[in-house]
Amino acid sequence: METNGNNSLISLDELQVYYRIGGGLFSESKSVKAVDGVTLDIKKGETLGLVGESGCGKSTLGKAILRLTEPTGGRVFYNGKDLASLPQREMREQRKHLQMIFQDPYASLNPRMNVGQIIGEPIRTFGLANGAAADLRVEELMETVGLSRRFTRRYPHEFSGGQRQRIGIARALAVEPEFIVADEPISALDVSIQAQIMNLMGRLQTEKNLTYLFISHDLRAVRHLSDRVAVMYLGKIVELAPGKDIYADPLMPYTQALISAVPVPDPEIEAKRERIILQGDVPSSINPPSGCHFHTRCPYVIEDCKRIVPQLVEIKPGHQAACIRISPEHPNIG
Ligand code: ADP
Ligand code: MG
Repeated sequence: METNGNNSLISLDELQVYYRIGGGLFSESKSVKAVDGVTLDIKKGETLGLVGESGCGKSTLGKAILRLTEPTGGRVFYNGKDLASLPQREMREQRKHLQMIFQDPYASLNPRMNVGQIIGEPIRTFGLANGAAADLRVEELMETVGLSRRFTRRYPHEFSGGQRQRIGIARALAVEPEFIVADEPISALDVSIQAQIMNLMGRLQTEKNLTYLFISHDLRAVRHLSDRVAVMYLGKIVELAPGKDIYADPLMPYTQALISAVPVPDPEIEAKRERIILQGDVPSSINPPSGCHFHTRCPYVIEDCKRIVPQLVEIKPGHQAACIRISPEHPNIG
């Protein structure tokens, strides 16, 4: 194996996911480059936050790692094993180790199954336990995520949003995974509930030694849990840094704009806060801008940006950015 000389659990190598759309007469089909050449390591035991505006390819990237959507190109290594080339049957076996939590737990829970059946299904499917042992396992999982075992026979509609997300988490945990993609797990929840779910995820990570890819369009949401943060723009990773550095010292104009859009709780600071407003709309990923995809909205654009595709390079220790105007010698643009 040519990867995993380090402590990565997941390694993505030039991962691509193109969706074909249209496909009418005269082979007019076009493709959406939802994920366009992502190379990224996720280290064992860490939380990697993945942020970016809606439509930039975050969910597609998460699903492609688990092969819930098929990669068009590139490779996905899990513990050194190339998942992208596994036959479907073997891939299903791997799902024991790789699970997903979704934004809308209601849409992802079968309304005709009670909670015991929902959480018990993966236990039985993977043959981890049967009969009374499986029932006991379900009850333990419910308590692990903070639900009373008395609720086993209730249906999803009888729970609140936060409780449903706990059910989704319990179902993901049922197979004792090593890696979890959490796709906007708190975005649909009331603010008061968000912290509870974040705390639960943090506790479970420590207790069960989990590795998370934590996806959110909201930089605030990933702040507390993320060891490192990756910023995505139109199918590409444009900045990657330790969590504290991405907020204190964002290098990319795009990341600076995302951070400046986050309100500060202190009203005095909030009033003085400088905001970088992005010009223009998010361009289409069917026909992304040439060169640097961000050049149409960047306040620091120069001619070369329209031509040269920037590579993700290390600017400061552990801090990578993809911008031809940024270098280790000149890390600060503008
Ligand atoms: P995000 O999660 O960051 O909002 P997505 O991964 O959902 O982004 O989508 C990335 C791009 O791929 C968007 O332009 C979206 O419209 C497109 N897309 C997502 N799923 C499909 C699909 N099944 N078929 C065609 N296009 C899709
Ligand atoms: Mg999404």
